[in-house]
Parts: sequence; structure tokens; C-alpha cells
Amino acid sequence: MARPPRSLLIRDAELWNGGSAGHRTDVLVENGTIAGIGNDLTTESADRVIDAGGGLLLPGLHDHHIHVAGLAVRAQSVWCGPPQVTNGAQLRSVLDGAQGSGWIRGIGYHESVLDGLPDARTLDRFAPDRPLRMQHRSGRMWLLNSAALDLLLASGDAPPGLERDAGAFTGRLFDEDAWLRKALGSLPPDFSAISLQLARLGITGLTDMTPQNGVEMAAHFASQRASGALLQNVTLAGTLELAEAQQDGWSLGPVKLHLHEADLPPFDETVALARAAHDQGRALAIHCVSEVEIVFALAVLEEVGSLSSDRIEHASIASPTHVEQMACKGVAVCVQPHFVAERGDQYLTDVEPRLHADLYRLASLCNAGIAMAGGSDAPFASPDPWSAMRAAVSRKTDSGQSIGPAEALTPEQALALWLADPADLSWQREIALGAAADLCLLSQPWANARERFDPADVALTVASGQIVHDGIDQPPVERGSR
Ligand SMILES: [Zn+2]
Repeated sequence: MARPPRSLLIRDAELWNGGSAGHRTDVLVENGTIAGIGNDLTTESADRVIDAGGGLLLPGLHDHHIHVAGLAVRAQSVWCGPPQVTNGAQLRSVLDGAQGSGWIRGIGYHESVLDGLPDARTLDRFAPDRPLRMQHRSGRMWLLNSAALDLLLASGDAPPGLERDAGAFTGRLFDEDAWLRKALGSLPPDFSAISLQLARLGITGLTDMTPQNGVEMAAHFASQRASGALLQNVTLAGTLELAEAQQDGWSLGPVKLHLHEADLPPFDETVALARAAHDQGRALAIHCVSEVEIVFALAVLEEVGSLSSDRIEHASIASPTHVEQMACKGVAVCVQPHFVAERGDQYLTDVEPRLHADLYRLASLCNAGIAMAGGSDAPFASPDPWSAMRAAVSRKTDSGQSIGPAEALTPEQALALWLADPADLSWQREIALGAAADLCLLSQPWANARERFDPADVALTVASGQIVHDGIDQPPVERGSR
């Protein structure tokens, strides 16, 4: 690997400033910070000079809601169901092609592939040489081959959820994820591959919103940062316990409250948890995807009094009254505009028509003065922020249907969702003297980029002064295939 430059001069870039594209100028990066902005900078002290040719230079994108470990695990798993895998021959072929050695982790299995739920013996024919655990797409069941059964039962007793037929284990395991994790002794995954993928998208910062994040996961993030496997700056949301972890290479974020409409926690307990979070000086981040959940969340905030940094995650369904209440309480909302594209067709079928106007509001939150930020929620959706920005502007589903077109944002507002400051979502990060050098350079001026939001336009990504994605010397990419 080439020695990273100590200083970097980006010439003739269009600078993002105050919510729009400004004049063309030069920017000098030294020791991890912006050391100069202007047209009179000399190239002498720079180790590397890049000619931006009028491309847009903006603060590096921050994904405000992501599950990094989940995304990494997903990337290392084999997809075993429709639409890519629809029969036994295709299943055999993807399992044969599984990378690495040892365990194969399959996901997305559906009964249509092998005409039902295969037992261990059947799976042995599809994965004869390696232990296989294949998750049903419902997430509630694992299907194990014989090698997997042997390994998992070697160190202890079978759990109640491991199905038996006439005394013998079938290999079907129901609702035993905690036991499985323990039996596997699984370590959190390596982040390097997905971190590079995110860098190519122009992302220099992440807020991990996994509710279970605690001391152990914080230590893993710290070591992944220290080893250079994780290139992005990290804010960790999670448990109350997270506050006890040593903040080493990451920043402490909100306490995550994950509400489930079908199984809401007792109100008093939730209020106590919310108070404890505020006592730690931490905000609340409350997961709300239904009408009932947002009503519950607003009632909790009414009881404890909201901090300006408290936030609602998703706000998938919000009536005008809910929007008004969120604005009154001064809470921020972290939105996923791409859910309209990726899941919109399903929503139009599943969600009651009376609620369609309340789906994934954007413009009405913005007009109410609510601080907003964008997050991918990967691996539950694509990690690509550019596709999310496209959806925020178009409000179109994958099949081209429109959802709440009045909720569309301008391209400038859409981009701003990824430029919010993770420590204060009402604040936009800027390229300023002395600021941390987290940068994203596009190959295009804003006038072009705003029309297409194409990830292929990301030419260079700089995180904490280091180049983490360098597309400058690559041959031109084929465009317009979309
Ligand atoms: Zn999430």
C-alpha cells in the first residue's frame, strides 16, 4: 500500500456551503483537518494534488442509522431463497460457491426452494463438506445439516427449540438464537469489507443504532477502529450500560428504545429508562414504525420532558397531529426515504389506505421545523445514501407508483439529511478552516449531481484526513445504465 499523504490539496472544487453549491476554490488538508481554503494556496507543501475539475466537494456523508455488525454478517452470508434461489440445483450451486472454510451461514430460505423445511439429512446432500446453518426468511428458524448438529451439540445439551422426531434431531431449530450464539461462541464480525463499501459511497461517519450495543460491542468497535478495519467515525447508540464502556475511537450516542406495537413495554418502566438515559446526559432514540408506537413514544416524552437531542427513528406513520407534537417537543426525526422505493409497493398493499398520506413524511417534517437526518437502516435496506436521496426527491416506489408526492424534498434538502452533525442533528456540518477533514468529492458539479444522485459520481472520500476511497485514477465508469 502506498504511504498515505500527510497533506492533500484539492484544486478547483465547487464548495458546498450553507446548503448550496458555492464558488470554485482549493482546499488543503493537513494532519486530519482543513488547513486552508482559497485560490492562493501553493502546491509546494502538498504530498498529493488532485484536480477536482469543478466537481462538488462536500462534507463526508454520515449514515445516522445503521447496524454495522448486522451488515457485515449479512455480507458474509449466502442468500438461499427467492428471487435468486428458487430450486435445489440453485441452492447447491450457491452453497458450493460459499467463500472461506468452516461454517456456512445461509439466510433467506423459503419453503418454495426445497418444497418444505428440509431436515439435516436432506441438507447434507446440499452441503456435504461443511457445517451449514440456514436461516428461514422469517428469522424465526434455523435449518442445520448433520455436521452443524454434531458441532453444536458437542459442547452441551440440546435446547427445547431443537425439534425431535422419534427421538432423533431433525436439524430444525426454532427461536433459539441466544442458545445458538452461545453454542457457536461467535465473535462479532470483521468490518473491513463493508467499511470499504461505505467509503466508496462517500460515507465518513456512522451512527450504529443497534439496541443491544453494550460494553462488549463497544470494545469490538474500538478494536476495529484501532486496526484500521473500520474507516468511518462512529457514534454508538444502544443500552444504558454503554455509558460504562471506555470511549476509545467512538463517541457515545443515544439510548435506543425499540418499541414493538404487539409487545409494548410497561409505560412506567419505559419512563424510568428514559429518565435514566437523560440522567446520563444522553438522548433517547425511539424506534417508531406504527401509529401506536409514535403515540406511546410521544407520551413517554411528555412524561419525562424531551431534550432537544431526543429523536424518533423512522416515524414511518405520522399524522399531522403527531408532526405538530414532535415539533412542539423539539425532537429530531431520523428518516429512511428509500423505504418508499424499496418497500413502497408492499406498503400500498399492506397499510390501510387511510394511512397512506401519513407514510414516511419528509416535507411536512421539514416545514414544521423539525431537525432531520437520514439513515439507511442497513442491512434491512440498501446502505446506498444516493438511492435514498433519489427516493426523497421522487417519492416513487420501485414499480413507479407515487407515495405522498407532496412529501418530496428538494435535492438540496435530501442531501442535507446526510450532512447533519451526529452530535446535534439540527446542525449542518461544513467545510471550514480547522474542521475535521471528512470529505466527499464528486466528479460532477452540483448542477449535474442533483439530477441523478449517482454513487458512481463519488470520486474521492477522505475520513479524518486519510483517503479511504480513491476513484480519481480509475478509468471512466459506464454511466446511464440505470
Ligand atoms: Zn434499525
